[in-house]
Amino acid sequence: MKALVMHCPGSVRIEDVSPPVRKAGEALLRVRYVGLCGTDLNSYRGRNPLVSYPRIPGHEIAATIAEIDENIAGFSVGMDVTLSPYTSCGSCAACCNNRNNACQLNQTLGVQRDGALAEYITVPVEKLYTAHLGLQELCLVEPLTVGCHAVARARVKDSDTVAIFGCGGVGLGAVAASAFRGAKTIAIDVDDKKLEIAKKAGAAYSINSQRQDLASVIGELTDGRGPQVVIEAVGRPETFLAAVDIVAFTGRVAYIGYAKEPVTYETRLFVQKELDIMGTRNALPADFQEVILMLEEKRFPVDAAIGIVAPFEEAPEVFAAWDANPARFAKIMIALDPSSPAKEDILDADGVEFA
Ligand SMILES: [Zn+2]
Ligand SMILES: [Zn+2]
Repeated sequence: MKALVMHCPGSVRIEDVSPPVRKAGEALLRVRYVGLCGTDLNSYRGRNPLVSYPRIPGHEIAATIAEIDENIAGFSVGMDVTLSPYTSCGSCAACCNNRNNACQLNQTLGVQRDGALAEYITVPVEKLYTAHLGLQELCLVEPLTVGCHAVARARVKDSDTVAIFGCGGVGLGAVAASAFRGAKTIAIDVDDKKLEIAKKAGAAYSINSQRQDLASVIGELTDGRGPQVVIEAVGRPETFLAAVDIVAFTGRVAYIGYAKEPVTYETRLFVQKELDIMGTRNALPADFQEVILMLEEKRFPVDAAIGIVAPFEEAPEVFAAWDANPARFAKIMIALDPSSPAKEDILDADGVEFA
C-alpha cells in the first residue's frame, strides 16, 4: 500500500510499504481523510522533540472500517469512524488517576509510532468513535478535543466568562467548546481571519490584541473583574503572563500551549487572586463525546475552519508549501481516497504556491 514517509526533517515521500495485518480486537481501517496540525509541521521541521524518523505522520483521522471482529457492539464493516490517537500504559500515576490522556508513556499515532497517512491502518476497537457526521467532520473531531479538554479541565459552566488566547486549531476548539457550554466567550488573537472564524464558532466577542488594548477591552467586557476562566493556546511567555494578569480573582487558568523559553512570573498574583492554575494535555473519551455532540448539533463552522483539502499525491508539496508559509494555511486535510471530493484546486503549476 502507499504511505507518506517522513525520512528526516524536510524529506517526505509517498512510498510502497507493507500493509498492516489486523489482530483480534483491532479494526482494519481504510483511511479517508487525515488532518494536519502544528505537531506535523514541527515534525517536518525537525522541531518536535517527541518524534523519531522514519515516521508516517497523521493523527487526525476519518476512516471506514474495512475489517473488524464480528459481534463488536456498535461497529461493523463499512461504517465511518474517527479515533483517539493516544495510547496509555494503564499503570503510571496518570493512568491510575483515570487521566490516561496524560499517560507518562503515551505514544501518539504519527509521532512516537506510525500514523495514518497511509491507505490502511489498524487500531484497537476501543479507540474508535462513530457519529452522525460526514467524513470531513469526523476528521475534525480529534483536533477539537484538545481545546475541549482544556474547557473541561477549567470546569467551564454557563455562568462563566472565558477568555481564550490563540484561535489556531487548538484555541478554536476551546472557543467552540466554551460557547457550547453556554459561557460568554472572548476570543483573542492577532489575526483577524482567525478571529472571524472564532466568532462563527461561538465567540461572543473578539479582541485583536495587536490593535486593541487588551486590558481595557477585557475590563469593559467583564465589569472590571476579569474573566473567571482564561485558556492559553499560544505558547508564548507574553500570553502565559497575560493569562494570570487578566483572570478574575479566584479564577481558573488553563495552559495548553507551552512556552519554548522560561517564563518569569509575579507569583504574588497566584496567591492574591487565589488562582487555580492548571496544565492540560490531549483529551479523554468524554471530550471526544462532547465534540461529537457539538458537531452533530452543527455548532461548529466546519467549512470555514477547513482551509484546504489536498489529494494524497500532493501531500509532499503541501508540506513544503506549508513550511514555507505557515500563516497562509487554516486547517489542512489530505484526502486519501481518490473518490473524495477536493475542496478546491490547490497547487499552482509550480507546485508550491497556493491559488
Ligand atoms: Zn493534531
Ligand atoms: Zn500511563
